[in-house]
Amino acid sequence: MNLDRFPRIDLCHAPTPLEFMPRLTQHLGGPQIWIKRDDCTGMALGGNKARKLEFLMGDALQQGADHVVTLGALQSNHVRQTAAAAARLGLACTVILEHRHPNPDPDYLHNGNVLLDSLLGADIVYRPGGTDMPAALTQVGEQLRAKGRRPYLIPSGGSNPVGTLGYVKAAQELLQQAQEKSLRLDHIVVASGSAGTHAGLVVGLAAQASTVPVQGFAVSQAAHLQHARVSTLALATAQTIGHLTPLAPEAIRVNADYLGAGYSIPTPAMVDAVQQVARLEGILLDPVYTGKAMAGLIDWVRRGHYRATENIVFIHTGGQAGLFGFCDTLSQSSPDHTPYMAPSRQEVL
Ligand SMILES: *Cc1c(COP(=O)(O)O)cnc(C)c1O
Repeated sequence: MNLDRFPRIDLCHAPTPLEFMPRLTQHLGGPQIWIKRDDCTGMALGGNKARKLEFLMGDALQQGADHVVTLGALQSNHVRQTAAAAARLGLACTVILEHRHPNPDPDYLHNGNVLLDSLLGADIVYRPGGTDMPAALTQVGEQLRAKGRRPYLIPSGGSNPVGTLGYVKAAQELLQQAQEKSLRLDHIVVASGSAGTHAGLVVGLAAQASTVPVQGFAVSQAAHLQHARVSTLALATAQTIGHLTPLAPEAIRVNADYLGAGYSIPTPAMVDAVQQVARLEGILLDPVYTGKAMAGLIDWVRRGHYRATENIVFIHTGGQAGLFGFCDTLSQSSPDHTPYMAPSRQEVL
């Protein structure tokens, strides 16, 4: 499969490392757990969106765009990485942020990704929760066009078939790394949100005749809805690259048991997973995506889903900037660790 015919701009530090997690593996006493460090893609704190933006920005430049517009939740990592990519390429950038999470924590409103969006020079437009965000994107695009700009619109999470090519390419990279390490891949585990990462991996593996199953842990909606989202995008992406062998419905695996009350709403298992991986491996996960996906993986290992000889690769999709938007939640202790008594805000003030 050759992706060279699609315009692409180098934005990532790649290949990202594929590392063994010895202490988490030992602690859980189950399968061998590996981690693909897509938090290390490099651009403005890294993350999975950088891979999608290589193709999206390639397309934007080919179309002669001078302005990039995208959207997301307040603490969107996609928005932050898009602002960085636009800055790097000298394009103007407008981001539309939806305040959809009922979190009044001032850090959530102003710190983390929101701080970085403004540092990176993006023009920020705020919208209340429940706004029709795709319509808002179209509207901002029209306003810019009326002013003589040439805007390039990027949907939520960069998850259209163009952005998803980034993870078709990442699947090639992962298979090659595994081959170099003589590592047999038995399972891939990933957070599944706007679905480009999950769908791209599935299509990229299928296009290389790999049958390694990709388990998505849904972080924003019920499993049947997420299954439909991933399937639709996988089909469109497969058509884009000309891979016409149909994907079986079983090729898309989604579990939503670790989503909790909804997108970006913390769960105790997420907090525990973030703390365990930090304390056992010195690796920072994020509270919205990888923390919940890792909570799923940890629980599945405990429930005996995997054999000790199996190799699991967890895709670390990044998102650490979001940690700073969840200070209150994450400074709580987990039951099996010495409590950390964070001073209350009042005490500090
Ligand atoms: C966006 C994002 C995801 C989800 O990827 P999708 O392609 O949107 O499904 C996972 N982890 C992090 C940190 C993200 O920012």
